[in-house]
Amino acid sequence: FEPWNDPNESPLIQFKNVTKRFGDFTAIDNQSFDIYAKEFFALLGPSGCGKTTLMRMLAGFETPTEGTILLGGQDIAPIPPNKRAVNMMFQSYALFPHLSVWENIAFGLKRDGKPKPEIDARVDEMLKLTRLEKFAKRKPHQISGGQRQRVALARSLAKAPKLLLLDEPLGALDAKLRQDTQFELMDIQEKTGTTFVIVTHDQEEAMTVASRVAVMDHGKIIQADTPPRIYEMPNSVYVADFIGDVTIITGTATPQGDGYDITFGEGQPTLRAKSDRSFTRDQICHLAIRPEKVAISADKPEGAANAVQGKILDIAYLGNLSTYHVELSNGQIVKAQAANTRRLSARPFTWEDDVWLSWTETAGVLLES
Ligand code: ATP
Repeated sequence: FEPWNDPNESPLIQFKNVTKRFGDFTAIDNQSFDIYAKEFFALLGPSGCGKTTLMRMLAGFETPTEGTILLGGQDIAPIPPNKRAVNMMFQSYALFPHLSVWENIAFGLKRDGKPKPEIDARVDEMLKLTRLEKFAKRKPHQISGGQRQRVALARSLAKAPKLLLLDEPLGALDAKLRQDTQFELMDIQEKTGTTFVIVTHDQEEAMTVASRVAVMDHGKIIQADTPPRIYEMPNSVYVADFIGDVTIITGTATPQGDGYDITFGEGQPTLRAKSDRSFTRDQICHLAIRPEKVAISADKPEGAANAVQGKILDIAYLGNLSTYHVELSNGQIVKAQAANTRRLSARPFTWEDDVWLSWTETAGVLLES
């Protein structure tokens, strides 16, 4: 998995030791990170972790208590929000109800006193970009929710900001429309080359649209990485657990050969794992394994690096596949996924079945405590 950025490129945005306190509460805790031009950067994390606060500091609605934010190498602290090459699109869209789609998109350009031909050309370009040409004369209440979302996007891009901040931009749309709109958003971001920073609660959305996802917890970015690296190479139990489905097996690791022996529970076999990290003898470790990396079988698999035995406790039927929750004799639950290639009546495994689970030495990620 390639890292995202070109090491020779200089970042568009730099956070340098930024802390934001509200009274004695620390909302952002001494954070330093970069965002590059043309990135689609997603801020993801549980409620209250500081996503909106980070974004509001970029917009200029909040100022850091400590530290500096640079945009194109310049400290943005002295620049008021309306003078920054930054725009923010709100979840509520905040469209003017009495103005047409065309006038809504033209609003900022008119306020800046741009000449009429320039406004006309730019609004037409934005209408085309967001496929709203046919709706130019309608008022916001005469178009659908998805179209309103596109008007808000067109309006926030009209002044060609360097950076567009999107606060839960698809939050008001239903699930199906939301998915289509994600692709549209990616397409528009790519066509305009604008840097997008998006705040979302929805991990699938972040993983779909973003070039890099920053997973946050308690005012800190725990990992900022490409979606495949976040999923396949989480840097912590927190990230492994926050993104997607995972089994965490806690045990002790001891170096052996080209990997580690892991002991994890009464009556359980020793597991094997390879890792880029180093562990010392009997060090507490967590093995994070995605369910799709675990094979499930009725008989003991031949020659598997890791094989454990258990009983099926729960089955989550997901249509194309099922996730099996298997309980080992020591109470550890391990999740395994298998494709549903047969008809339901002929499903290979059912509740209470005794099964074997197996995985390779490189299937999991071995993490420190
Ligand atoms: P959500 O997903 O719920 O929107 P978030 O990750 O965006 O959450 P923030 O809105 O950034 O979180 O808030 C981070 C923390 O800072 C929260 O605990 C919040 O209560 C606190 N906070 C934010 N703004 C203020 C403020 N103006 N005064 C006091 N506390 C604040």
